Amino acid sequence: SIPLSFFGGIGGTSRFGILVKGSRYLEALSNSDTFVFDKTGTLTKGSFSVTEIHPVGMSESELLAFAAHAEAYSTHPIAVSLRAAYQQPVHTGDLTDISEYAGHGVTALYLGRRIAVGNSGFMQELGVDAGDMNSAGSVIHVAVDGMYAGWIVIADTVKPTAVRAIAELKKRGIRRVVMLTGDSPPAAASIARELGIDEYYAGLLPQDKISVMERILANQRAGSSAAFVGDGINDAPVLTRADIGIAMGSLGSDAAIEAADIVLMDDDPLKIISAIDISRRTMHIVV
Ligand code: ADP
Ligand code: MG
Repeated sequence: SIPLSFFGGIGGTSRFGILVKGSRYLEALSNSDTFVFDKTGTLTKGSFSVTEIHPVGMSESELLAFAAHAEAYSTHPIAVSLRAAYQQPVHTGDLTDISEYAGHGVTALYLGRRIAVGNSGFMQELGVDAGDMNSAGSVIHVAVDGMYAGWIVIADTVKPTAVRAIAELKKRGIRRVVMLTGDSPPAAASIARELGIDEYYAGLLPQDKISVMERILANQRAGSSAAFVGDGINDAPVLTRADIGIAMGSLGSDAAIEAADIVLMDDDPLKIISAIDISRRTMHIVV
């Protein structure tokens, strides 16, 4: 169901793995002065590794087993890393009542126990008392039958070319570079510092990302465009709102491809720099 017929080889972009849905998006890109990035999977690898396990009233392996089972069906990078850390097959036969709450976490019934896995805001909503850990990694809390069962720290790393991509944007006169994330403020601060991004918003729910994007669009200078770059997981509404929605390395996600104006076939942030350069050259030739 990939609408490949939408994409033209505009300005020869398809040779570079850059698919553009119409020449007006290439023109908008050539006039862009603002880039808004989703953090996880876009600027970071999105393949986290578990770095700390802190069980409360159970063993580390029990805590990990509860977390991995509750996350059995989630495609979120956090779920993938919890399952990888568990290193054992999950028994989906023992699982029922699975729900996923975008930007929050998951709940499931596993071996008759009510499991919740997610961030501190999610625990708060469930009425579970979880401390506010101040970690540069993402802190994921686990509750079992409404009782706090501990926390797991998972650390994401920036993509090797992301630092250069941000620097190259600034070199090209992009005046505003913003990072959005549902992750915690300390985790966001550490990634932003590493990338040289001064403006970031953390702890955002999917609908908050839309309102931040709308605020940015309302403050755009006349004649200049604002782009949003995301990996597609929960990003489709923001991709749609932005002047230019850029989906990255997300040929797996039909929703993102439909919502995006430009699709980058791989997940290298430097592809954005190539796209800008091509757009500026192309528009220069056309005008
Ligand atoms: P980002 O904005 O960094 O792309 P998301 O909006 O997908 O991240 O998620 C924001 C936060 O919500 C995560 O950092 C995590 O705390 C929590 N979360 C989302 N999905 C899950 C999940 N499946 N399991 C545990 N926590 C989750
Ligand atoms: Mg995301």
